[in-house]
Amino acid sequence: MRYPDHIWHNGEIKRWQDATVHVMAHGLHYGSSVFEGIRCYETNKGHAIFRLTEHNKRLFNSARIYEMPIPYTLEQINQACRDVIKANDLGQCYLRPIAYRDLGGFGLSADCPTSVAVAAWNMGRYLGADVIEAGIDACVSSWQRFAPNTIPAGAKAGGNYLSGQLIAREARRLGFGEGIALASTGLLSEGAGENLFLVFDGALHTTPVSAALLNGITRNTIMTLARDNGITVIEREIPREYLYLCDELFMCGTAAEITPIRSVDGRAVGTGKPGDVTRRIQKLFFGLFDGTTPDKYGWLEAL
Ligand code: PMP
Repeated sequence: MRYPDHIWHNGEIKRWQDATVHVMAHGLHYGSSVFEGIRCYETNKGHAIFRLTEHNKRLFNSARIYEMPIPYTLEQINQACRDVIKANDLGQCYLRPIAYRDLGGFGLSADCPTSVAVAAWNMGRYLGADVIEAGIDACVSSWQRFAPNTIPAGAKAGGNYLSGQLIAREARRLGFGEGIALASTGLLSEGAGENLFLVFDGALHTTPVSAALLNGITRNTIMTLARDNGITVIEREIPREYLYLCDELFMCGTAAEITPIRSVDGRAVGTGKPGDVTRRIQKLFFGLFDGTTPDKYGWLEAL
């Protein structure tokens, strides 16, 4: 991997190699960091950061859940995102704001200062080059998501991604493109780093936030675009076997965008090819960037 030249760290643009963390930083030991993943797209109106403010609001909310004060305003973090893209002379790219408990005490409840960084780098298709077209083969993981009264799935916190790593690594080791997790209830949750949509009779069905999942911004985008275009969206608890019965299935997230799933556990989904509703949702979503879908809600924020 070629690293970018600059990174925003605690209020300054630094050289990549100077943006370091002490080995005794709280966040490194205890998973106490909160972060975001955001994409900047090339659009028909120039470069735009997709739902920048919404993502950074979620960053502040994740920090709030963990009582981690962020010593910057939302607007300062938004500006840091813009500044780091410019400092690296990037256009279309992926942004990673992160806030973490830094050096300042060894105990679990130590009031360590919060440090903040924002990185930006070129990112192509997260799950592989041709997956948006062809789809992926997924499996149900042997690892469940954490129960809702253990670790809050609504916070996008570093420690949550131990669960994501177990799910994603197991899937790849077994030859699948991505893993799907069940919640501690035994009902469907989400992918290792993506939300899920199932299609039945032309309607979208997605699992509720109570199913140990991150309330994804892409998920919300899809639900909004679908409803605005006359596609029914139903949020409901879904048992595992419906993965084998649905007409179509796809995953979504900032990194994964909209990735069709063509099989689960070796069983073909529908015809085994991405279906019409999935294609329509992809067209509506990617249409935001080429201007064929109107940006009614001001989701494209200028660089
Ligand atoms: N679930 C998990 C566990 C994730 O890490 C992500 C990616 N942030 C998502 C869902 C999708 O969220 P978003 O659409 O906001 O990127």
